[in-house]
Amino acid sequence: MREKYHPVLLPVYLLISFLIMISVYPQQGNNESYVENLNYLNWGYNYDSTLVFLESIHTNPFVKIDSIGASVQGRAIWMITIKDTSEYSGHLFRVTIHARTHPAERQSQWLTQKMVEQLIGNSEIAAALRKHIIFNVVPMYNPDGVELNIERGNANGVDLERNWFVSQPEPEVLALRNKYIEFMNDSVPIKIALNMHGDAGSPMVYFVYHHENGTSIPYTVDEKYFISLVRSHWVDGIADWNYNVTWSTGNPLIFPECWFWVNYQKAVLALTNEQIFVSSKNDTVIIKTANALLNGIADYLGAATSVKQPVLSVPNKFQLFQNYPNPFNPSTTINYFILNQSYVSLIVYDALGREIIRLVDEEKPGGNYSVEFKAVNLASGIYFYKLQTEKFTQIKKMILLR
Ligand SMILES: [Zn+2]
Repeated sequence: MREKYHPVLLPVYLLISFLIMISVYPQQGNNESYVENLNYLNWGYNYDSTLVFLESIHTNPFVKIDSIGASVQGRAIWMITIKDTSEYSGHLFRVTIHARTHPAERQSQWLTQKMVEQLIGNSEIAAALRKHIIFNVVPMYNPDGVELNIERGNANGVDLERNWFVSQPEPEVLALRNKYIEFMNDSVPIKIALNMHGDAGSPMVYFVYHHENGTSIPYTVDEKYFISLVRSHWVDGIADWNYNVTWSTGNPLIFPECWFWVNYQKAVLALTNEQIFVSSKNDTVIIKTANALLNGIADYLGAATSVKQPVLSVPNKFQLFQNYPNPFNPSTTINYFILNQSYVSLIVYDALGREIIRLVDEEKPGGNYSVEFKAVNLASGIYFYKLQTEKFTQIKKMILLR
C-alpha cells in the first residue's frame, strides 16, 4: 500500500480504512491474486492488520488511541493508552512499550498486542494493573518499513533503533522521543520503558542487559531484579540476565535505552526484550511471555502490595545476586534485594566454612542494596557469601584470583 495516512481521528480513519478493505478485497476474485497480495505483504502483519487490531479494542472503556505523529510517508504512529484510575487516588506508575522498530520482527508486535489484550481483559491481575499503572503502547513504530518490506529501516532506509543520538533524527524517532519527554515531565513519569524486538535465532526469550560500565551498579541491581521477577513467571522460557550482556565497554549512545540512561539515569528502567521466532500471534510462547512480562511489571512496581491477595502474584521476597566481577582481585560487589524490613546479615566464608567478615549485620528497610567486598590479606581460592534474613537464607560462591 502506498496511500499516505495522516494522523486524524481514529474512528474516521478506521471507517475509511474498512470501507476500502471491504470494497477491495472481495473484488480480487480468484485465489491467485489473493496469493499475490499476500506475497506483497511479505513480512506479514502489516499496517492494515494493526488497524484491524486497533478497531477491535478501541471501544474498550480502558482504552484510548491517539496518533503521536507521522512516519516519513505520512502514516500515523498509533499509541494505545490503557488505564483505569477511576476509583484510585494512590500512587501511579507509567510503563511504555514500543514494538516493531524492525519490520521483519513481527513477533515483537504480536507479543505487545497480546499484552494489550491481557491488560484490557477481565482477569483480576489486569484490573489491578490498570488501576496502578498507565500503559502507553506503540504496537507499530515503523509502519513505512513494514509496508515497504524493508528488513530493518524506515522509508529512508534508516534503522530507527540506531537513530536516537544523531543531530537530525527521523520523524518516527522524533515523534516517540517527544512523547517520552512529555511523559517524563508529567506528574506520572515513565518507570519502565520496554523496547520490543525479535530474535528468530534464539531458543529463549531474553532481555538485552546493560552492563554497569555503561550504566551503574545500582542500575544493574534494578535490571537483575526486574529480569528475575519476569523470569520467575516463566523460568523455562525466559533467560536470566547474563544471557545477553551489552555495554560492557560503555554506553554506545545509539539506542533508545542509551537516550533514557543519558537523560534520566536510574529513574527509568529501559530494556529491550527479544522474542523468539513464532509462527502465529496466538502462539503459546507469545501468551506465556505476555503473562510473564505483565506479572513481572506488577511485582517490580509493587502493585501487589496495594491490592487484595491473590490478585497479583507474590513477588520474590528476597534475592541474592552473583557478585561482580567474578573472579575478582581484590574487590568485588555483591547486590541483594529484600522486599520488607528485616534483620539482615551478609557474611563471607572461606572454603572451610570459617567466617571471614560480616559485611552486613543490622536491621534494614526493604530495597535494593549493594555491598563492596575487599579481599585484604586473603589467598586465592573459593569463598562463599551468605545472605540471611529472618525468613530466608541464600549462599553463593565467588573466586578470588590473585
Ligand atoms: Zn530488532
